[in-house]
Amino acid sequence: LNFNKAEFVRSAGVQRDFIRDGLPQFAFAGRSNVGKSSVINRLVGRKNLAYVGASPGKTTQVNYFLIDRRAYLVDLPGYGYAKVSQAEKERWAKLMETYFQQEADRITAGVLIVDIRHKPTANDLTMHDWFRQTGCPEIVVANKLDKLKKSQVEPAMTLIRETLELTERDLLIPFSAEKGDGRDELIRHLTAACGG
Ligand code: GDP
Repeated sequence: LNFNKAEFVRSAGVQRDFIRDGLPQFAFAGRSNVGKSSVINRLVGRKNLAYVGASPGKTTQVNYFLIDRRAYLVDLPGYGYAKVSQAEKERWAKLMETYFQQEADRITAGVLIVDIRHKPTANDLTMHDWFRQTGCPEIVVANKLDKLKKSQVEPAMTLIRETLELTERDLLIPFSAEKGDGRDELIRHLTAACGG
């Protein structure tokens, strides 16, 4: 799957705008500011495909990007930003509930992005549960690797594994959207998830 061939297709704020054309879909989730846009931009080799630095939580939309005309990268709206209004939080919850209820069968793989420096939050755990309930393979990406010293990486990865109750077989990839670490590994797993 050539991730350098990527194009924005559509934003969906309501169910009728979800894409259901049968192509594989990779759903990307993470709390606001974790670097989800940066990870997506790194994957596709572009600076600005997923908008980086938009005020966190403001865009309660599911964004679809077509990869190599063969699969969709689905950018789910970020969560957990403290300054978001109650109305915005409710809009987010409703959209996600609809997405996970209606689209679960279409999710080929879930990508949960967490911050390698921190213990996953309660919201991360909720999202992790939602992915598990769909039954799709899940890949956890531990972003901002470049912010840790080498000696800090192993304990950080262990904390994430334990908090999310990952087994040895569950995929946890140390990643740096800034430097590019983990890109090839993530692309390999996503490509495998949709059959090569
Ligand atoms: P989003 O809200 O999850 O889409 O997060 P963004 O992609 O907008 O990133 C939030 C902030 O984290 C920005 O200032 C990015 O430059 C920074 N950032 C994202 N990924 C990394 C990374 O791997 N390393 C470092 N050092 N900074 C990162």
